[in-house]
Amino acid sequence: MKVARFHAPGDIRIEDAPEPVAGPGELKIRVRNCSTCGTDAKIYKFGHHHIRPPRVMGHEIAGEVVDTGARVQVIAAIPCGSCADCARGRRTVCPNQESMGYHYDGGFAEYMIVPAKVLAVDGVNAIPSGVGFAEASVAEPLACVLNGQSLAGVGAGDDVVVMGAGPIGCLHVRTARARGAARVFLVDVNAQRLAMAAELVRPDATIDADPVEQVLKLTGGRGADVVITAAASGAAQEQAVRMAARQGRISFFGGLPKDDPVIALDSNLVHYRELTIVGANGSSPAHNAEALRLVAEGAVTVSDLITHRLPLSQVLDGIDLVSRGAAIKVTIEP
Ligand SMILES: [Zn+2]
Ligand SMILES: [Zn+2]
Repeated sequence: MKVARFHAPGDIRIEDAPEPVAGPGELKIRVRNCSTCGTDAKIYKFGHHHIRPPRVMGHEIAGEVVDTGARVQVIAAIPCGSCADCARGRRTVCPNQESMGYHYDGGFAEYMIVPAKVLAVDGVNAIPSGVGFAEASVAEPLACVLNGQSLAGVGAGDDVVVMGAGPIGCLHVRTARARGAARVFLVDVNAQRLAMAAELVRPDATIDADPVEQVLKLTGGRGADVVITAAASGAAQEQAVRMAARQGRISFFGGLPKDDPVIALDSNLVHYRELTIVGANGSSPAHNAEALRLVAEGAVTVSDLITHRLPLSQVLDGIDLVSRGAAIKVTIEP
């Protein structure tokens, strides 16, 4: 079978590999869609400390169980299910977390083995009828967005700002609407990408410069109830705190580069305005199931966000599209 394997930064190869064989307690699936995201672009450029090459990449996975033909979606982040955090239901911050495409071979392959660990934490979801494989593969990033918005308490009547108009930003706009947000404003410094995203997700306003001033203007000086940074930008995080309304919630959804993670924070803004700043680290198996449900119900549409469908042989083109911001969602069809 064909696989896309990471060997070293800048070195991903399309190779022939023997078809994997499922061991006891494992599941073999025929991958139908594995979508790409900014993380794949980051791994391609810099590698990742959890990836010991060679490794088949790809963590937004949907396919068919070889034995039964069942249509399934597979989680990316695998909690251990037994540590103190997992016992408290905090599965997104399990310190023993492993990931598909990092610790285990992922979905950029014709066939893939689902490890027993994934099955043990209910990490394989039946794809609801009416939901395609490509849409189902987007359940994983959507699950991460659900986790972020649940931690930030996005709810009815909120004015929400999403900073970053990539695929994750688009999913945040759609999810905020589904949760009853009053207005959603989309910010990106790249005017072209912002226009492409806005065309699809129709925010109430787009902002490509001076976001703090613009958000204050749009909200009559009050600021936004929730600000979500879906960009690896310290400047965006600093602006997010300054544009939040009193008792506003700020989600530092996107992480910062490892070598530049420190921002300047006016802690008096947090103090006097009673701000809440939350993080977000991936998603739990339950978030993945919820994401599939929302897609099936039509509460969050994802099909139109899939702008490119490419065969496995073009996985590098897909990653290139993602890193240039020239696509919303690129899905690979092995
Ligand atoms: Zn991803
Ligand atoms: Zn755990």
